[in-house]
Amino acid sequence: MIPVSRLLFRGSTKACPVCGDRRLFKKWFTMIERCPTCNLQFERIEGHWSGSLGLNTIVSFGTLLLVLVIGLIVTFPEFPIGLLIAVNVGTAVVVPLLFFPISRTLWTAIDIAMRPLEEDEVDWESFE
Ligand SMILES: [Zn+2]
Repeated sequence: MIPVSRLLFRGSTKACPVCGDRRLFKKWFTMIERCPTCNLQFERIEGHWSGSLGLNTIVSFGTLLLVLVIGLIVTFPEFPIGLLIAVNVGTAVVVPLLFFPISRTLWTAIDIAMRPLEEDEVDWESFE
C-alpha cells in the first residue's frame, strides 16, 4: 500500500504514481501505455482519461480566475482591457497545454488513491 501523499507527489511531478519512474512521455502530449518499471497500465479503465481532462479544466479555469482577479487588483482603478484580455487569453491557451502531462499522472495517482490497485496490476518485484 503506497501512502496517498507519495502517490500525489509522484503524480504531480509527472512521475509514475506507483514506482516514481519518469520515462512516461515520448513527447509532451504522448504518454506510453504502461510504466517501463512497474508495468502499470495507466488507462486503468475505459474512460480513465476523462478524469485528467476534468482535472486539467479545473486547474486551467482556476488559474484563469486567479490571473483575472490579480490583473484587476493590480491595475485598479484604470483597467487596461486590451492587456487584460491578452494576458487572460494567453493563460487560457498556455496553462492547459503545460499542465496536460501532469494532469495525466496526477489523475492516475488520484484514481489509485480512490480505487486501490489490484494485486496483478503492477509487477511489485520489479522495483521494491
Ligand atoms: Zn511505475
